[in-house]
Amino acid sequence: MNYHPGTIYIDQEAVNLSFTKAITAQYPQIDPIIIDPREVKSKLFDQVASLTKGKQILYLKKFQGDALKLCPGYSDEVLCCNYQVIDLVENCPLECVYCILQAFLNKPIITFHVNVEEIIEKTIKGLKLLADRQIRVGTGEHSDSLALDDIFKVNPYLIDVFSRLKNVTLELKTKTDKIESLLGLNHQNRTVIAWSLNPEAIIKQYEYKTATLPQRIKAAQTVIDHGYQVAFHFDPMIYFEGWQKGYQSTIELLFDSIPESKIAWISLGTLRYIPALKQIAEERFPKLSIFSNEFIPAFDGKMRYLKSIRNELISTISKWIYQKSSRVPLYICMEKHSCWDKSMNCHPMDAIALEAHLDNNVIK
Ligand code: SF4
Repeated sequence: MNYHPGTIYIDQEAVNLSFTKAITAQYPQIDPIIIDPREVKSKLFDQVASLTKGKQILYLKKFQGDALKLCPGYSDEVLCCNYQVIDLVENCPLECVYCILQAFLNKPIITFHVNVEEIIEKTIKGLKLLADRQIRVGTGEHSDSLALDDIFKVNPYLIDVFSRLKNVTLELKTKTDKIESLLGLNHQNRTVIAWSLNPEAIIKQYEYKTATLPQRIKAAQTVIDHGYQVAFHFDPMIYFEGWQKGYQSTIELLFDSIPESKIAWISLGTLRYIPALKQIAEERFPKLSIFSNEFIPAFDGKMRYLKSIRNELISTISKWIYQKSSRVPLYICMEKHSCWDKSMNCHPMDAIALEAHLDNNVIK
């Protein structure tokens, strides 16, 4: 899908920034509304009628503060991968019915932090403090990393900056096939392009406006032709009637289409959500069955499938992946150490060890 904003708001202090000018130049028919940052809540956020309408509003603002953060999933309770996230875009034009952002973001619009150069300069300083280890950094935490890049064109800038950082790998995660802005760049193997995968039945039913499974695989093949490594995330895995056939054929398609030597890592994670999400998603997408299984509140306050279901999904799908490749690092997102013992063929001791395990497979 191609996103076209209906309205553009710009913070007073962001009007003259280069990304602001480049974005607004693409929409000569839209008269941007300049807004005082002190009035943005009352004059913008509080006026948005719904999440769906909010996605038609593009808000260009300066981000103050530290945009580099440890992944919000980090917890002592689980084996984490030490992932760092850069907050450049908030909210997403795609419509996954399980998307946590529907309940999580307090701004019902699409926000782009346009002082990119300043944010990245600060980020690099933060990353240099961590220079004694290899670090993975992603931008796909509060949005899809590629869905808006035909408009923002921020990824070529990031890829260029990260191509010069020896201790950092940038991961761009997506459910789209919008790869045009990535092609022909001198990335120096410092960027991995990653796709979230699910069986086509799940994509059709629950991941609206995203690329189909064959489109995602085709896009991965194209970026490989342009020298990138790729990664895949079976996350969120959904427990549905026919899940075995759906995931097995997805794994077959993946390994029939992508050489294992080009895969940097694969992750697994089962559906989880904060309790507030269920009602919001059911109001936005009536007649959903995705939340109809039995869920229980877990250690982190999120609702998760019963442990037996989580174990069944993870152990079965990891077994099928290992049958295809024993060399691609496989990890589980946000699960306890006990789950690793049951399903994984290795069990890093802690986040630093898991981080190194994944990074060792990145071609330098
Ligand atoms: S692609 Fe990610 S951020 Fe976008 S709607 Fe889907 S889950 Fe949310």
